[in-house]
Amino acid sequence: MKHFPIFMALEGRRVVLSGGGEAALAKLRLLLKTEAKLTVVASDAAPEIAAWASTGRLTLINRAMEPGDAICASLFYAANEDAAEDARVADLAHRDGALVNIVDNLADSQFITPAIVDRDPVTVAIGTEGAAPVLARSIKKSLEEQLSPNLGLMARVGKAFRAKVEALPFGAKRRAFWSEYYAADIGDTGVAQNRLEGLLDKHLNAPEREGWVDLVGAGPGDPELLTLKARKALDNADVVIYDRLVAPEILELARREAVMLSAGKEGFGPSVTQDAINEMIVSHARGGAHVVRLKSGDPTVFGRLDEEIEACDASGVKWNIVPGITSASAGVAALGQSLTKRGRNSGVRFITGHDTKGYADHDWKTLAGEGEVAAIYMGKKSARFIQGRLLMHGANPATPVTVIENASRASQRILSTTLSQLEPSLTDAAFDGPALVFLGLAPREALQASEEFEQKEAAS
Ligand code: SAH
Repeated sequence: MKHFPIFMALEGRRVVLSGGGEAALAKLRLLLKTEAKLTVVASDAAPEIAAWASTGRLTLINRAMEPGDAICASLFYAANEDAAEDARVADLAHRDGALVNIVDNLADSQFITPAIVDRDPVTVAIGTEGAAPVLARSIKKSLEEQLSPNLGLMARVGKAFRAKVEALPFGAKRRAFWSEYYAADIGDTGVAQNRLEGLLDKHLNAPEREGWVDLVGAGPGDPELLTLKARKALDNADVVIYDRLVAPEILELARREAVMLSAGKEGFGPSVTQDAINEMIVSHARGGAHVVRLKSGDPTVFGRLDEEIEACDASGVKWNIVPGITSASAGVAALGQSLTKRGRNSGVRFITGHDTKGYADHDWKTLAGEGEVAAIYMGKKSARFIQGRLLMHGANPATPVTVIENASRASQRILSTTLSQLEPSLTDAAFDGPALVFLGLAPREALQASEEFEQKEAAS
């Protein structure tokens, strides 16, 4: 971002413009909407400018610009449509200490004027840093169509009513009041005022709404793998508290007005403490909000769900679990494999590589057996430990192991290896996204190739 958009207070401030032709007129039409003290310096001012001067809307100095004309000016526009004259007056204005814009000369301007959608006091400014003026115009056109012409009136009436709305508690309740007010399109001050009074009465007397918590599985990343229930919960949420692993495309689906709070953690990562997350969930729900606690995959798999449920129970907050597709399901789908298979494994384990205490211990002897299948979550860092334990307990070094990173996302990567090669292959692959380690599974194609190879070996 080379230009930082700000809204400048111009009430009573000097703005000076040099030029009297079409470019000057275009800028003046915008500047006249402000409450700035406008001065135009032009030896050949268009009749419109002279007319504005005669009605006191601006001051006209009928000559070419001289040193000191822009003294104490906040902004200065060079709009002479003549490069040499613009450069001369810009130089004078710089010396007078004003911020300078030269019309149609981005490189020598200290600020630029955006395309504006004006619903005063609601103002939308659109800028493309000169890269795509056509795009700016088309964005402006679509916003002009989208935003009711009555929006300004409604906002002015609303602003005058703000003090009364303080009777509603700050937060979700006040937001609900304003959302309902702005959902209507009213073009009459009296009608808008009556509606505000009526709405305030309704919201003040509304029965206390109890908040509740949906503990929602966001799935492995692909937004199409969200359940309809998860979609619905996101559509209606007041507050969404999400884990770092939840894909941005999924967060986009939350209700526009929802408050989005990051719980910052990945698996057992420490960035926000579990107590702080519990507190966040409970306090918003007790304030009457519909809280969506959004967890990657399925919330019941390595999601510290029980701690959050216990915190809700302890505070009398109602909760509900919306299951999601766990990353192991998305992972095996990408491998073209089943988690269970007749004649190979009649059970499957979901295990974690490490837990709060460090590397997690498991029944290595059983896991080392022929045909065992396990999906190892958070297994990247502990891969060498797991490899060592399994080999020590007699696992076949040729056991297939597949690591899948970012399952179901566009950035998905698969590493197909064997137990003996798991490390250093995994370190060499330098995966930096969430990854699952599948013990006892190979991608279907690789499996076929190795079976064919073994058959050939046996036949020769
Ligand atoms: N509740 C989640 C698991 C949370 S623990 C679920 O059901 O999937 C976090 C671990 O999940 C990560 O360390 C990684 O092992 C795994 N994981 C989550 N999303 C993943 C994805 N898209 N691809 C691969 N592994 C993923």
